[in-house]
Amino acid sequence: MEKFVYSFNEGSKDMKSLLGGKGANLAEMTKIGLPVPFGFTVTTEACNKYYDDGEKLADTVVEQIFEKLDELEKVSNKKFGSKENPLLVSVRSGAVISMPGMMDTVLNLGLNDETVEGMAELTGNERFAQDSYRRFIQMFGDVVLEIPKSKFDKVFEAQKKASNCEFDIDLTTEDLKKIIVDYKKIIKEETGKDFIQEPKEQLMEAVKAVFRSWNNERAILYRKLNNIDSSLGTAVNVQSMVFGNMGDTSGTGVAFTRNPATGDNGVFGEFLVNAQGEDVVAGIRTPQPISEMEKIFPEVYKEFLRIAELLEDHFKDMQDIEFTVENEKLYMLQVRTGKRTAMAAVKLAVAMEKEGLIDKKTAISRIEPNQINQLLHPKFDEKELEKAEVLAKGLPASPGASMGKISFTAAEAEEAVAKGEKVILVRTETSPEDLAGMVAAEGILTARGGMTSHAAVVARGMGKCCIAGCSTIEVDEENKVLKVGNLVLNQNDFISLDGSTGTVYKGKIDTIKPELSGDFGTIMKWSDEIRTLKIRTNADNPRDTKTAVDFGAEGIGLCRTEHMFFEEERISTVRQMILADTKEEREKALEQILPYQKGDFKEIYKVMAGKPVTIRLLDPPLHEFLPHEGEEIKQLSKQINVPYEKLLSKVEELHEFNPMLGHRGCRLAITYPEIAVMQTKAIMTAAIELKKEEGMEITPEIMIPLVGMEKEIAFLKKVIIDTINECFEKEGVKLDYLIGTMIEIPRAALTADKIAKDAEFFSFGTNDLTQMAYGFSRDDSGRFIDDYKNKGIFEEDPFQTLDQEGVGKLVEMAVELGKKTRPNIKLGICGEHGGDPKTIEFCHKVGLDYVSCSPFRVPIARLAAAQAAVKAEEK
Ligand code: PEP
Ligand code: MG
Repeated sequence: MEKFVYSFNEGSKDMKSLLGGKGANLAEMTKIGLPVPFGFTVTTEACNKYYDDGEKLADTVVEQIFEKLDELEKVSNKKFGSKENPLLVSVRSGAVISMPGMMDTVLNLGLNDETVEGMAELTGNERFAQDSYRRFIQMFGDVVLEIPKSKFDKVFEAQKKASNCEFDIDLTTEDLKKIIVDYKKIIKEETGKDFIQEPKEQLMEAVKAVFRSWNNERAILYRKLNNIDSSLGTAVNVQSMVFGNMGDTSGTGVAFTRNPATGDNGVFGEFLVNAQGEDVVAGIRTPQPISEMEKIFPEVYKEFLRIAELLEDHFKDMQDIEFTVENEKLYMLQVRTGKRTAMAAVKLAVAMEKEGLIDKKTAISRIEPNQINQLLHPKFDEKELEKAEVLAKGLPASPGASMGKISFTAAEAEEAVAKGEKVILVRTETSPEDLAGMVAAEGILTARGGMTSHAAVVARGMGKCCIAGCSTIEVDEENKVLKVGNLVLNQNDFISLDGSTGTVYKGKIDTIKPELSGDFGTIMKWSDEIRTLKIRTNADNPRDTKTAVDFGAEGIGLCRTEHMFFEEERISTVRQMILADTKEEREKALEQILPYQKGDFKEIYKVMAGKPVTIRLLDPPLHEFLPHEGEEIKQLSKQINVPYEKLLSKVEELHEFNPMLGHRGCRLAITYPEIAVMQTKAIMTAAIELKKEEGMEITPEIMIPLVGMEKEIAFLKKVIIDTINECFEKEGVKLDYLIGTMIEIPRAALTADKIAKDAEFFSFGTNDLTQMAYGFSRDDSGRFIDDYKNKGIFEEDPFQTLDQEGVGKLVEMAVELGKKTRPNIKLGICGEHGGDPKTIEFCHKVGLDYVSCSPFRVPIARLAAAQAAVKAEEK
């Protein structure tokens, strides 16, 4: 019989896909003898079976849960539903990849009208028992019965007010009993049924609720944002309860073995006396720093430090730990690899290598390439900061600088961002419902909550600037005002956040580029030592080229010449070229464009200082350079002195129903070879002049776009070579050069052996290749790709991450065929995919020489290429 339930002493950390991350690590901690309350894990396979069976718990799963429950009763010496000695459990979800704040938890399960009495007697603490019961009903109502949490909160707050209580712990036993009565009323009203009293039934309902929560909106959104496969399923952990809310000798906390925001050494976390775990994570009460525990429970603190160190040593990485102290005894409730900011990830990786805990290859593999994006983006300008007015200080929950207009709700934030505005989401505290608004906002500011509150954890994961627990501000979400002392800020007022220091500033503050030295430089250096793929950039002006070189680009993989045509003083000459009736007229206009193009290329060559530069001949259809609106056409007709009618008819003549598949790419140069002639002249003479002037050795790489047939490239190659020879003769200087092609039409991939007869290099234009392989318009598919994602047809957008199965097959085929004809053919990729880590891994695997990506993605690509090399070695 298939095994669907494992006790904690039956698993290990290597069983994550079956037990989920939480379950596997609870098993591991049990195995190495740490104080873990006993329990069992219902597997991810049981979750998948639940869905396969039409959202039903199979009988075998139910039976196995009951068997493990018997075992748990024996080990804990307590009984489920017993009035004398009741067993209470927590029920928590635990996916394979941790999804913080996404899945739901139920604590104190097993309590009912009878066992609550038993608990009171057993602990001699009636208040504690009633408090546990009201928490259980509330969580069960919210998570399992899906009753809005606000209904319970309203009752709770009303009672606090009626009894004049400032804090939750000020509520008396009688107050709590009243709350329980009201909570039960809510449940009856909302579900039509009484609150479930039978513990086993409670348990089954909770297990099902965890499985259901795998497909709640927040979980789906989180998976989408983090590219997590929706077929993984979640496990459920059922664990015997320990109580942090048993009075002043108890407490609960969350800690990291090192600082997850900065990467600094030493345990870092928070702790609350007389509280249950959810109080810390939910940010309901602002907790104390973990170091305070030393004063309150010195012995427990010592033991905690010992275990924290042991766990870091055991897992060889920074760990995120949840623990509870029950009557001065420490229990470990969870351990997992700690989420960290990019800054911390880099610092930790370098520090751990230096400490001998991990090697360089492991160190570079620890950093999520997309996350280092955070380090490449601006910080506040120090000078601006000096002048800025500080509004308040909160906890530096997630570093970075951001500024924007205040939005008080997630929906408002989304709306404003859709209109192109930058916003800061300002909330008393955030909850998972705010996720979409947090994604949209530049930064997040909360009045309540600690470093492990929802806002902090989620923002760090997203690499978004966040300040939490900013208690000197008052957020009135209803009236849409933010008060700081006497100052009142409204929606749409600007504020700026420094998530690294926790400072909130009034107004807008300018930002500057980040430093890329120190530990970041070390990681880049190690990556460069390990990777074999070269990293080039897509750049078509000196500024972007310089940025890319500063980020470590080793060449230009794609210089799109059309962007150079758009500059103000050139566009009218370009238009004259397009409007020309004869070849002579066209050549005359092109003669005027030539010096501009040559000048651009010279500047770019200079910045690249001899590194390879691939320049692509004109690609887009000519109508892109003409105006389309009546008024604009009129204006242009005056400006270039061409009759309006003539201009209009030219615009109409150039109109295409499907320009992406129209007269573009090499097809333009086949119709008008003079365009290719001018561009070739500009490319070669720029290089020749630099050789003459500065002795610079440049090997220009001329790239022909959108080739689908051998004869297209053969035709244009002749035009190009004839032009080059003319240049050599005229200038009296010769240079090496390469002529190659983009592979971006499926037919080119299929006939790559023939095309390679003429092409000295291939550069995969995966934007067009994806478009044409799928038959999806690049310009229009954005409208439905999200539907495909939401309906599980796409895990990822194929225009961002290469579809390895289909488009990738074309790439592999072209590589193989190309090499057959020309074994030393140079191979690269220059579509958007060239900066995507998964695609980079694929490019390494199929044997490309380089990837080319936008300047800001160069460091990401360097790291991803190194990780690809490490992974390939491991296989
Ligand atoms: C491509 O098609 O992948 C490519 C790089 O060219 P462009 O995006 O300019 O069409
Ligand atoms: Mg293209």
